[in-house]
Amino acid sequence: MTTNPKYIFVTGGVSSSLGKGIIAASLAKLLQAQGYRTTIQKLDPYINIDPGTLNPYEHGECYVTDDGAETDLDLGHYERFLNVPTSQANNVTTGRIYQSVIDKERRGEFLGKTVQVIPHITDEIKRRIQILGNSGDYDIVITEIGGTVGDIESLPYIEAVRQLEWDLGDHNTCVIHLTLVPYLSAAGELKTKPTQHSVKTLMESGVQADILVCRTEHKLSAGIKEKLARFCNVKKEAVIESIDASTIYDVPNLMLEEGLDKVVLNQLQLKSVVPDLKRWNAFLKRHKNPKSEITIGLIGKYVELQDSYKSILEAFIHAGAENEVKVHVEPIHSEYLTESNIDFKLGHLDGVLVAPGFGERGIEGKIEAVRFVREQNIPFLGICLGMQMAVIEYARNVLKLQDANSMEMDENTPDPVINLMASQKDVVNKGGTMRLGAWECKIEKDSIAYSVYKSDSINERHRHRFEFNNSYKDQFENSGMKATGINPETGLVEIVEIPENNWFVGVQYHPEYKSTVKNPHPLFVAFVAAAHKFKKKK
Ligand code: GLN
Repeated sequence: MTTNPKYIFVTGGVSSSLGKGIIAASLAKLLQAQGYRTTIQKLDPYINIDPGTLNPYEHGECYVTDDGAETDLDLGHYERFLNVPTSQANNVTTGRIYQSVIDKERRGEFLGKTVQVIPHITDEIKRRIQILGNSGDYDIVITEIGGTVGDIESLPYIEAVRQLEWDLGDHNTCVIHLTLVPYLSAAGELKTKPTQHSVKTLMESGVQADILVCRTEHKLSAGIKEKLARFCNVKKEAVIESIDASTIYDVPNLMLEEGLDKVVLNQLQLKSVVPDLKRWNAFLKRHKNPKSEITIGLIGKYVELQDSYKSILEAFIHAGAENEVKVHVEPIHSEYLTESNIDFKLGHLDGVLVAPGFGERGIEGKIEAVRFVREQNIPFLGICLGMQMAVIEYARNVLKLQDANSMEMDENTPDPVINLMASQKDVVNKGGTMRLGAWECKIEKDSIAYSVYKSDSINERHRHRFEFNNSYKDQFENSGMKATGINPETGLVEIVEIPENNWFVGVQYHPEYKSTVKNPHPLFVAFVAAAHKFKKKK
């Protein structure tokens, strides 16, 4: 394998939302399948330190890594495609770059020099880009640069790429520019001009794209490819068509057909072999040929947004393929759920997932949903806030603690069955201060969780401030809701179940973050199986 790590940069032109993350993940998959140890990193030009404090309406889901980094949702795609965990080093923002430079300035480490965007900010960007490469763990590092070329805030990143190409020398770097080739229906033509302009914008910053990946709704003719090659200074075989796909999991094969991996490896002077995609394609076959179908209700307050529950939706795709079942996920807005419409809204479902979340909006609807599924014995999975809602519902309707609540929603509740964690009591800052990342959980042998994980010790990722209040534990357990998973160090309840029901599981952690194509998450696999069984019995 290689001695020096090679660096691939992915920039975007013409428009945002072209799917740089999916292209980067697909290319990484093809390189990994040829034996190259590959990782992907996302550089985000915004000034927040991380997306942890961003509203899902702004930025979609916040993805959490094992080491407790709150990151961009593209890291979820990287893990799902590659089945290799990411870490804080895989996501860097302008806020984080400036924070390190300013901290260094305060420590006097610039020795009296004027601190400037060039070279100090660009040096810090270059250092962050090379952290993964210098770790010795990877042959190839793909760095995706957020935003669109020409944005003022992207400029230091593009300048860092220009310098790195120069520092690292020929055949050690490669720049892929993802662009849009729009179709004008009035003219009946695909248009190359926006791409020509964005490649030119990139060149104004001294960076020449080596490869163009062209998002398009129609096939690119040989003539269009030739024109793009000629006007954008790239080889004809380096003009790659990226046509809309029915599933993101088709994109690695589409890129393989277009030869993206070959052009990249050729540019980096690395050997190209036939990628081993046997497992990947076996997954795709199962995903595309389901034997039956089920409908799961996803109850949340951001359901109108595709990206807010990204990892949950993807985990259902993995678990569906594993069960050879097509999972229709029906988004249901918790704010509009009431006792009088609950049967109409949930009565037809084969399973219900109550989503994670923060704040008061929509929680009474979530509690109503849990009551309905518990009473109707519909398979239930509650994640984080969803688990807390299951606890509150049980307290109110079974333990008859009518005003039971979470301290997050009502600080004066007489029965705080969900309490602020002791470790959170003195926390003032909002950013990066929750209980984050992977924690151990010990599982009770006689439980659904044990039958699912087939282990009495697991590690799952967390992102919360509140917890099950252990002073109520006996009351819950004596009446039928069991705590079957506990953190061994703190005694914190991680899993609750109602053994009397069909399949009723609430988890304080986020299993969705760890589901990948190669390893569909066992909890999602078992939940889909339970919903399928429930449907057959109906
Ligand atoms: N708001 C809840 C807490 O902080 C749940 C968080 C979540 O669902 N991620 O504990």
